[in-house]
This record gives sequence, structure tokens and C-alpha cells, in this order.
Amino acid sequence: MDQSNGRPAGLSRRDLLKAAALPLVAGAAGNTTSAAAAEPPSGFALQKPWKIAFEEHFLTPQFNDLPSGMTPTSVAEVYRNLLEVGEGRIAKMDRARIEYAILSLNSPGLQAELDGPGSAAKARVINDQLKGIVDKYPRRLGGFAALPTQDPKAAAEELERCVKQYGFHGALINSFSNLGNAESVIYLDDPRYDVLWERAQALDVPIYLHPRNPLASQQMMFKGHPELLAAGWAFLVECSTHALRMITSGVFDRFPKLTICLGHLGEALPAYQWRITKTYSQKVPKSPLKKDMYGYLKSNFIYTTAGFFDTRATLNVADIVGLDRVCFSADYPWMDMVEGGDWLDNAAISDADRLRIGRGNAMNLFRLKL
Ligand code: MN
Repeated sequence: MDQSNGRPAGLSRRDLLKAAALPLVAGAAGNTTSAAAAEPPSGFALQKPWKIAFEEHFLTPQFNDLPSGMTPTSVAEVYRNLLEVGEGRIAKMDRARIEYAILSLNSPGLQAELDGPGSAAKARVINDQLKGIVDKYPRRLGGFAALPTQDPKAAAEELERCVKQYGFHGALINSFSNLGNAESVIYLDDPRYDVLWERAQALDVPIYLHPRNPLASQQMMFKGHPELLAAGWAFLVECSTHALRMITSGVFDRFPKLTICLGHLGEALPAYQWRITKTYSQKVPKSPLKKDMYGYLKSNFIYTTAGFFDTRATLNVADIVGLDRVCFSADYPWMDMVEGGDWLDNAAISDADRLRIGRGNAMNLFRLKL
């Protein structure tokens, strides 16, 4: 090791970054797992920020909703950090060695709006505010659009406006959308969303499917256990189910190039791929779908480490879906981005895999030129 900078001897930062941008070899993930298990921790740690992260949240004083059951005082530090999108956030990115973060409005965001036309108007305001935030740090911050999903056509138009005019990298949707009241909702497998998928596919940008808490009427199983709501467990059940609804309703047959990003290492879907593939084929023997369930998990989804800084679980997911589909993210400020950055920089994996997960795969996904 070169003791001056902690990087493997003989490799400059430029070499490492070049390696990260190389085209990925399909099917390499299986080898990756066994090779990585045999290697000792490399102590890899670039001094300069090098990673890309894209499940990173913010609020503004005007748009400051928290997940149901939380208040600004009950999650005071997180709430403060959600509102902090200036020097403090950049300094923390430096400490986590994150070069570029794509910001998204915190859950539930616009999806909890009850008024469709109002949601469209708010989307324009919040995306304008986000543009102002990222413009102050164009080399460090990017944006995911907030979309007025109560009106799929308006959502498609807002996506296009934000991508074409503002250079946003896609959009983040906090799962299902309310329609008119707190208990009436629409899910993304509804055919009315085809207009949005068509636009996302044409713009060639991914959509991040982020969880929100289940409807109040669906929270019976968590009664008496508020610790299991949100990231405790409810997010996983809600978001993985939503992704499966999209698959089984044929969204990805109609829009085969659509890419959906899932955080938290895919909300357990990769671990369940065998079982959901098997049981779907049993329940729907004459499936109208073009692929089996595993086929969609391998071709239409990207999986991030947001909120899941565990090497073994990350390698398991890479082994199942392919290393080229696994990307670093932190899930800040719900998780500590410095802890996440330290984890990937020091995880017991090869430096080539570290660079793909931390940078190269995201460079390819968003066609970044950093
Ligand atoms: Mn999150």
C-alpha cells in the first residue's frame, strides 16, 4: 500500500476511477463473491471524495412532511439535517468521501397530497427549489424530481421538464399516491401510469421507488409496535409488494427499458427471487408475462445499499442480480452517511468491485461526466 494515501501501490486515483467506468462483465458476480471472501480487507480509502449516492433526502421549510407518526421534535436531529442542504451537507459528504449526491424530497413527499391539481402546482415549486439547491454545488449535488403522481399525465410532464430543463437524473416516487383522501390510493401498476413509464423510457432516466408507511387501515399487524413501522419493517413490506405489483401487471413488458431503483438492497426481493419466481409460475401457469420473475429482477431494477451497510448482504444481492446492478447509496439523514462511506471504503471486497458499487455502476446508470 502507498502509505501516503491509503490506495493500493501503483494505482493513481485516475487509474481507479477509470477502472470504475469500465464496461461491466455480465455474470461476474458469482466469481466476485468467492474471490472477495478470500481476500483480506484492503484498507482502501481514497482521500478525495469518489463515491456517488442517490437515496439522499432533503426537506425545505415550505415542504417539510415527515413519515406518519413522526414529528420535528421526535426526530429532531434528522429533521435538522433534512433541512440542511448547504455547506454542512457538503462537509459531511467530504467526510464520507461521497463526491456526488442526488437529492430527493423526503418520504412521503408529494405522494401524500390529497389534492391532484394542488400536487402538480406544488411539484413545480419544490422542483424549482431543488434546482436552486443543486445549482449552488453543481459538481456535488444533483436532483431527482418530485412528481405529482395523483395525475399521471402531469407527472410525466413534470419529469420531462425537470430532466430537460434542469438536468435532473430521473425522479423518486414515495410509493403509492393518495387520491382525494387518506385511505384512497393509486399504485404504480395502474395502466394510467403508462404515460409516465413511456416518458421515463424515452428520456432514458430511472425512477427510484422509495417506501412510505402503509395506509392506516393496513397497519393492524404493527399495532402496539411502532418500532416496526417505517424503516423498522413496514417500508420493506410495502415497497417490495409495490414492485411486485408492477412486475406481475406487465409494466416491464410494455416498457422493457424502464429502470426502477430500489433502496435497502432491494427490499428483500433478491433474497426472495427463487420463491417468488417459483410460486408465481405455480399460481399463474399460463402467465401472460414475457419473462419469469427473476428475469425482471435482473433486467429492470437497480439495487442500492441505502440504509444497508452490510458486506455479506450486498454480496448476496450482487450474486443473485449481478454486480452491475448494485450501487452505493447512504439514505441520509436517516442513516449516517459517514458510517456508510467508511463501510464501503473498508469492506472486504476487491477494489474493482468497490469501485463498481461505489461509482462505476452509477456513472453508467446516469451517464455522469464527473
Ligand atoms: Mn430513504
